Amino acid sequence: MRAAKGVGLAANQIGVAQRVAVVDIGEEDPPPLALINPVIVERGDELEVAEEGCLSIPDIFGDVERDVRVVVEALDRDGKRFRVAATGYKARAIQHEIDHLDGVLFLDHLSAVKRSLLLAKWKKSRKKQTGYLKEVTPEPAGEL
Ligand SMILES: [Zn+2]
Repeated sequence: MRAAKGVGLAANQIGVAQRVAVVDIGEEDPPPLALINPVIVERGDELEVAEEGCLSIPDIFGDVERDVRVVVEALDRDGKRFRVAATGYKARAIQHEIDHLDGVLFLDHLSAVKRSLLLAKWKKSRKKQTGYLKEVTPEPAGEL
């Protein structure tokens, strides 16, 4: 995450199927947040649109509307429950990482047209990187 100049990472981004995420916007006090089983328990009244990117889809950015203020409840690295309130950039990063844990990318907050355009751009930029992208055709819906 730090090598790629990211400010957050969710466990499932690196293939770990756990509800764990870290958020580090560069503050030393308080230290970086480790969030285990995080849940947003409170949201402010105000929304804000700002540009986001994601380590899972590098070099693609889009404007995403998020709550300006959130309160999150989670377990810390010692398994102790805590609550933290965050605003602005930190609140945005927390929401982005919790979205990852729920299988949601920032692209999912954009219009279908905007998402398609950005994904096409991203796929094109990855064309020469063989082995990085695998095109998957969804199976037709059938009986389970
Ligand atoms: Zn991300």
